[in-house]
Amino acid sequence: MYPFSYTRVSDTREAVTAGRRGGRYIAGGTTLVDLMRETVERPGEVVDISGLPLREITATERGGLRLGALVTMAEAAAHPTVRTLYPVVSQALELSASAQLRNMATIGGNIMQRTRCSYFRDVTAACNKREPGSGCSAREGFNRTHAILGTSDDCVATHPSDVAVAFAALEAQVHLLGPDGARQIPFADFLLRPGRTPDREQHLDRGELITAVEIPAHSRPLRSGYLKVRDRQSYEFALTSAAVALHIRGGVIRAAKVAAGGVGTVPWKLPVVEQHLVGERPSASLWESAAARAADGARPLRHNRFKVELLQRTVARQLRVVGGTK
Ligand code: SF4
Repeated sequence: MYPFSYTRVSDTREAVTAGRRGGRYIAGGTTLVDLMRETVERPGEVVDISGLPLREITATERGGLRLGALVTMAEAAAHPTVRTLYPVVSQALELSASAQLRNMATIGGNIMQRTRCSYFRDVTAACNKREPGSGCSAREGFNRTHAILGTSDDCVATHPSDVAVAFAALEAQVHLLGPDGARQIPFADFLLRPGRTPDREQHLDRGELITAVEIPAHSRPLRSGYLKVRDRQSYEFALTSAAVALHIRGGVIRAAKVAAGGVGTVPWKLPVVEQHLVGERPSASLWESAAARAADGARPLRHNRFKVELLQRTVARQLRVVGGTK
């Protein structure tokens, strides 16, 4: 460990001021504390935001649902409205981490969590994300769990969050508060692909604080669900996952929202799959033909070629589960 200062803030403006001077926000601490212990992260100041009034789940005037950034994963997963209207969100949360971690970790922290790439967490390994310009050990190393979509020559790490995949599918908005005031940003733009700067992971200005994630209104009824494929059935990250939401009326798919996890450097929205579905009648062959497009553009690495077919099968299965087999 190394020395750092600790500040506990009681209102959002105080938090933003502390963030602007370089403090790192901490709430549940389930990621940051681990990384500080391993000296992967070395903030000079930690700003405890856990007492801020950002822990409510509220319906919006526009018919959506707003999850405060400090709502815990367990609280969000158990909320009756989330369970009823957006099972894809509650399922993604319940398939994440352990029950103990879900009681501590927050929605804001979850989407900010850092990659599980083992080289990132090994301070003796070259890693452009941890130390820009040092190289990427994963490209030629063991890369079975790494990304096949959205990669760059500089980084091939996946984003580890499950609920972020559900948020991407549902086209959520991220609410931010910064030195220049409040703003909101589409979830699809919030997390950044690595490009030449894999150390820059979010579209955040200095000091900006996540205040909420808003799920917009969707046509109802909206059937949805999340499938996670992994090496073991608990406490494991996704090899592939699929978040699917379908609005079916009069026997026709009127809206389709689909995203994949475990395969992209960010949660991977699948617009080609969505377009393939809209206007069609649910059928087994439709699920298969739509899912066949799920890995379009994939650039697999030496050890993760299996993810191409696994992703297609994951999406096909979840379309079948959510949309039915007829
Ligand atoms: Fe680092 Fe990204 Fe390469 Fe992993 S994949 S070693 S996080 S640069």
